Amino acid sequence: MNPATGEVLREFECASEVEVRTVVARARAAQATWAEMGVRKRIAVLREFQRKLQEKKSEVAEAITREAGKPVAEALTTEVLVVLDAARFLIDNAYRLLRDEPIPHGNLATKLKRGRLVREPYGVVGIISPWNYPFSIPATEALAALVAGNAVVLKPSEFTSLVALELKSLLHSAGVPQDVFQVLVGDGATGAALIRAEIDKVVFTGSVATGKRIAAVAAERLLPVVLELGGKDPMLVLDDADVDVASSAAVWGAFVNAGQTCLSIERCYVHRSLYEEFLRACVEKTKKLIVTHGLDHNAEVGPLIHQRQLRLVEEHVEDAKACGARILIGGSRFPEMGANFYRPTVLADVTHAMRIMREETFGPVLPVMAFDNDDEAVCLANNSEYGLAASIWTRNRERGERLARRIQAGTVMVNDVVSCFGISEAPHGGVKSSGVGRAHGRFGLEEMVRLKYVDVDLLPGMKKVWWYGYGMKFSQQMEAFLDMQFARNLGTRLGGAIRAIGVVRRKQL
Ligand code: NAD
Repeated sequence: MNPATGEVLREFECASEVEVRTVVARARAAQATWAEMGVRKRIAVLREFQRKLQEKKSEVAEAITREAGKPVAEALTTEVLVVLDAARFLIDNAYRLLRDEPIPHGNLATKLKRGRLVREPYGVVGIISPWNYPFSIPATEALAALVAGNAVVLKPSEFTSLVALELKSLLHSAGVPQDVFQVLVGDGATGAALIRAEIDKVVFTGSVATGKRIAAVAAERLLPVVLELGGKDPMLVLDDADVDVASSAAVWGAFVNAGQTCLSIERCYVHRSLYEEFLRACVEKTKKLIVTHGLDHNAEVGPLIHQRQLRLVEEHVEDAKACGARILIGGSRFPEMGANFYRPTVLADVTHAMRIMREETFGPVLPVMAFDNDDEAVCLANNSEYGLAASIWTRNRERGERLARRIQAGTVMVNDVVSCFGISEAPHGGVKSSGVGRAHGRFGLEEMVRLKYVDVDLLPGMKKVWWYGYGMKFSQQMEAFLDMQFARNLGTRLGGAIRAIGVVRRKQL
């Protein structure tokens, strides 16, 4: 459905358990040939994908807006641009990052062996994705999985199936074989069937509740998982921050994609000396936002995805109001625009007793709270079950970086918000309930491969000194060998070397 208008765009049957199994079996059968093709040829396919996406950028952006509601400008920047750049990163770096890597040995006992790391694709990677970034999330994960030699089965959100089919058609037309990238349209039951099917890894992005359910099922057969879950990202505005810049960031960071962003500003803490000035600036800027259908090129804030999401936002705002928060602007639906629209809202005087400061709201609400010193700000920021990202606003970069180390989060940005998702080199992922594992960049690519350590002995005709044929003498030689390698005193080390030397002439079984 188009969330702005309620128009039905297309109807689907959810893929059944049998279909899921068939699709996964086809993916498995096709994967070996894809893996054998080699990284360089797969990179060439990614280059072609990037070229086609660049050509179709406006069409893809409009398809995203029609199904997810966000302004076209955001579909271009936070979705298409992110994917084009993720492709750029992999085109430039995948060969180097996936190459075998020598592992030099430090222990003298193993010096006569050579080790190397070999990165092998898992096989079939299942990707389960949410509706809020229906293109950039599955595409960045799929590109990494594919370039590493995996086949991919994507189960997109039931609210954004068409965008996933658009991604499929782009990948196929770029040269990814049909069975190497497949899409299973369906709801949670289809997703659950995919977890039960013979996949080799699952990369899940979505809510904490679903993530925990998936982790429990995956644990039964030790299926490796990446879980990219919810957030309740804090923004810390320190006493030396630029209020004009920080308030613009807060307004954008809280309302981008109508607040339905895992990295959006869900809690804003402002030093008491700037509090009222900051609030005034946020209200002035919120007043100017153009809230309308995303396909209107003037649109800045679009609709929420569905009624359930809208009701959750309403509940959080009502709860905050009942507990004493001040609604400075917004705080209600916007029915003149459409059933799923909610006015961008700024709340003051919120506390951690309110749901709006503890639970993920995922809507266009900016709750602001005052603090008195940096220690208190850090405490407030860390007082959350989530730990996806955070931001610190200060004119003093060193102070910002120092504080960043004290925040419990996967990412901390100093003087910016949300954009870390678009930095293809940066790992994306959370701590605490925000998830396990990383997407994007080098670490996202590492999630798509199994590490195999291959060790080759350089003297195959020689028995190892530590094999059977022990005895008192051998124990003494080993004590000497340990002294030689690890004693702090140089004399003891030299003595150890002399006493250990006989070990190489030892008779083993
Ligand atoms: P959701 O958990 O409801 O659904 C996510 C996906 O899981 C959908 O495709 C859904 O059909 C599927 N699913 C539902 N039940 C399932 C089950 N039992 N087994 C397997 N699959 C199942 O989440 P949502 O509402 O689509 O997305 C919003 C959430 O995603 C928010 O919490 C947001 O913070 C989070 N999110 C996190 C990130 C991140 O990178 N950390 C990015 C975007 C969104």
